[in-house]
Amino acid sequence: MEILHHGAVGGVTGSCHELRVGDRDAILIDCGLFQGAETSGKGANADALAIEFPVDHVRALVVTHVHIDHVGRIPYLLAAGFGGPIYCTPPSARLLPVVLEDALKIGVTRNKALIRRVMAALERMIRPVPFGQWQAIDVESEEPLSICFRRAGHILGSAWVDCRCGTEGNDQHVIFSGDLGNRETPLLRDPDQPEGCDVLVMESTYGDRNHENREQRQQALEAVLREALQDRGTVLIPAFSIGRTQELLYELEDILHRNQGGEAASGLAWDDVEIVLDSPMAATFTKLYRELRPYWDEEAGARIDAGRHPLDFDQLTTINSHDDHLRLVDYLDQSERPVVVLAASGMCAGGRIVNYLKAMLGNPKHDILFVGYQARGTPGRVIQQYGPQGGYVDFGDERFDIRARVHTISGYSAHADQDGLVAFATGMQRPPREIRLVHGDPETSEVLAGILRDAVPNTHVAQPEGD
Ligand SMILES: [Zn+2]
Repeated sequence: MEILHHGAVGGVTGSCHELRVGDRDAILIDCGLFQGAETSGKGANADALAIEFPVDHVRALVVTHVHIDHVGRIPYLLAAGFGGPIYCTPPSARLLPVVLEDALKIGVTRNKALIRRVMAALERMIRPVPFGQWQAIDVESEEPLSICFRRAGHILGSAWVDCRCGTEGNDQHVIFSGDLGNRETPLLRDPDQPEGCDVLVMESTYGDRNHENREQRQQALEAVLREALQDRGTVLIPAFSIGRTQELLYELEDILHRNQGGEAASGLAWDDVEIVLDSPMAATFTKLYRELRPYWDEEAGARIDAGRHPLDFDQLTTINSHDDHLRLVDYLDQSERPVVVLAASGMCAGGRIVNYLKAMLGNPKHDILFVGYQARGTPGRVIQQYGPQGGYVDFGDERFDIRARVHTISGYSAHADQDGLVAFATGMQRPPREIRLVHGDPETSEVLAGILRDAVPNTHVAQPEGD
């Protein structure tokens, strides 16, 4: 048994790990895109996308969740010759085709016939496997290999994967954490705790810090909104289409619901605050999230039973067409109408949020609110870091001074914090003999590695290099 890492080492994107069993078989866990600064150093863009490792012995692809940094290279995997099954949870099986079709259109081709062919091939390959059910992988060698999805609480459908190699009683378990979520993430059930394994490959995005708790972060969100709405500007929230957007809508609905009849700012009723979702993708995923209600947690179910619509409330407007989007950017920049806008991409590296930023960064009445991780080299990271000091950000050849106010609330991260990661790794009855920390900036992983080495002294804690 051998584990190779084809991405998400020394950084947070491009997740792709290979579990080799014997010399003839392997499975891949995720096949994601590199983003931000992590695309550089890999040559031209096309090289960063190409699958540079052999795939003829890869029997299956196992998808932990449908974020683009975990699935974005799947089309290239097909191009490299992979034709095996793609295993994922039932909600991921619903979300994955939509994500990949979008990825194809944006990154690969506008050719509709080609997109249809690739999508048809993909749909045939996707195999949903329910949480908690073992799925045998079709391998050539005599050593059996099976996988089982457990809840990761990160986005809808997200899972960590337990891989069992060998016959029962003589088996080894490798767990790939995928992205682990926070406990108390809106809408989602809490992550499952593993009982034991031999090797744990774990993400470490927030290995060096802890988040605010749920109550604090909702108060922080409400406080930022109150402050930002005072001068009747726009509050821009860059958010990933999948996961973060729906969680934020859920929290915003709650803030509006609790404050019915009250004032958001002097002379401004909460009932008059409009929430705009300006992203066709996010709107599509919000609709899919609504359809996947059986996978929501109990609290969200209780709100529905109470007649509330956490993802589809009266003060929510969705913008679809690009013309409407451009008109809204102009209108909001000029008007005195206080609006909260959610738009992708979450790290400001593209998408409709960029048009808002270009129009609004220079005006102090507007506010930018970051609620998610900003990778190195992305415009989001630059704005987050230099905005509060009156810095600037470049979009293409154009430079924009940042006069809008910039806020960051960390509690809304879809990732487990340091305590969550430590609990996941050290809470096992049968601790792993080896922990490999992936999916984190090197300094961050190092902090977490230090804590784990003290907490589980008999476990080897490694920060692997890429293969
Ligand atoms: Zn993710």
